[in-house]
Amino acid sequence: MSELKNDLELFSRLAQHLLETEESNPVAKRLKPESAFDEPEFSLNQNPIDDSNLVDKLKKIIDLTPKTSSKKFFNQLFGGRNSKAFLGDLLAVMLNNSMYTYKAGGIQVALEHEIFKSSLKLAGMPESGDGIMVPGGSMANFMALLIARDRADKNRKNTGHGKTLTAYTSEDAHYSNLKNMGFAGAGEENLRKITTGAGGGIDTQALKTSIESDIEKGNTPFLVIATAGTTVCGAFDPIDEIADICDRYNIHFHVDGAYCGCVIFSDHFKHLVKGLHRADTFCYNAHKVLGAPQNCSVMLSRDADRLRQSFNSTADYLFQTDGDDYNPGVKSMQCGRRNDALKLWTLWKSKGTKGLGHIVDERFKLADYAKQYIKNNQDYTIYGPPNSLSVCFNYKNHNPADLCRKLYLEGELMVGHGSFKNDKFIRLVVVNPNHTKEEIDGFFQTLESCADNS
Ligand SMILES: *Cc1c(COP(=O)(O)O)cnc(C)c1O
Repeated sequence: MSELKNDLELFSRLAQHLLETEESNPVAKRLKPESAFDEPEFSLNQNPIDDSNLVDKLKKIIDLTPKTSSKKFFNQLFGGRNSKAFLGDLLAVMLNNSMYTYKAGGIQVALEHEIFKSSLKLAGMPESGDGIMVPGGSMANFMALLIARDRADKNRKNTGHGKTLTAYTSEDAHYSNLKNMGFAGAGEENLRKITTGAGGGIDTQALKTSIESDIEKGNTPFLVIATAGTTVCGAFDPIDEIADICDRYNIHFHVDGAYCGCVIFSDHFKHLVKGLHRADTFCYNAHKVLGAPQNCSVMLSRDADRLRQSFNSTADYLFQTDGDDYNPGVKSMQCGRRNDALKLWTLWKSKGTKGLGHIVDERFKLADYAKQYIKNNQDYTIYGPPNSLSVCFNYKNHNPADLCRKLYLEGELMVGHGSFKNDKFIRLVVVNPNHTKEEIDGFFQTLESCADNS
């Protein structure tokens, strides 16, 4: 038997073991990090080991790995397993294309392009726009920032110096925006963090005031980043109003939809991103609410040329055949690039746009179900905006951080905590496509019995 055939069999045995463990032991056994880093069993040595020994080790590693696809994982903005997307990703691993050229990626490049075309249409952005799959929302935000920088100061890229560029986002926006200002040479101190209102959306009056104050000082406002689904509360910025401001001052408008941008798939919830068609750049993560394997991030640009101008560089050894329109390497940050398109294409093709909308609708319904439970129970306090997939609450007067830690260390379930303004709370994220009411009921039961037994 060839080694690959043999290893495919090993894989299916290990996959079986993983699925069983997810059921029987949904929160992994925790090794103290000190012991994990020092475990001789996992050290790399001079001598080989045989397959049966290797399988044992891999099984043990599976046992010790947090089970993000189990029904007890509520900890992050991803979780669960959307099986059709998983299928597509397995194939992508086996095909192992690199997505820089049509020559190396072939039809895969066309599938990726189809994702951009269809996503632009759903977002209401012109089909003459373009896109690129990127390794995460943080990188999408970085690319948007670089496009905006080059638009406001076209020599900056070349000379490395220029105007003082100022960017604006809400105080609840993702932390990548701050880092990205540093990466881009625009300076972290030139990111203005604008206050949010009680609903978690940016205060547009404060935004305007801040922009005007920068103009007065001789700075050049170059980018406003709106968030569609803030990382903690899942709040939506008022996109239409922000677009008005960007138009008025001629500023690049990016919408960070890493968390909840996929509301574009839902007829019921796309109103939350009203005005999105006016964005210059927009990104969403299919590995969050849609349940595709990580990473699966779509970055879109209204203006195809701007995307290319910021990321193109000549490389005669690489771009040897086909025009630039067919070689995505001319608009990407990386050189070699993993195929993140096939998993989303497979999911989208199999379920249809309607099916993806249904995934989104079901998440919102389930979040409402959880919120209803909280509202009907006097032992709970609820926080956060109404239309959100982040269910923020406290139970009795338990300290949220302590309770989350206890749930985790006792192997009950994984959930995190967050804060908004002066409130600290537990944050139950409803993104796992495999969760139903049953898992939500189970979540509260487990939480209550763990809290009441302390
Ligand atoms: C998760 C998130 C990001 C970062 O996405 P990664 O894929 O983890 O890099 C950016 N913005 C928002 C609003 C997010 O929720």
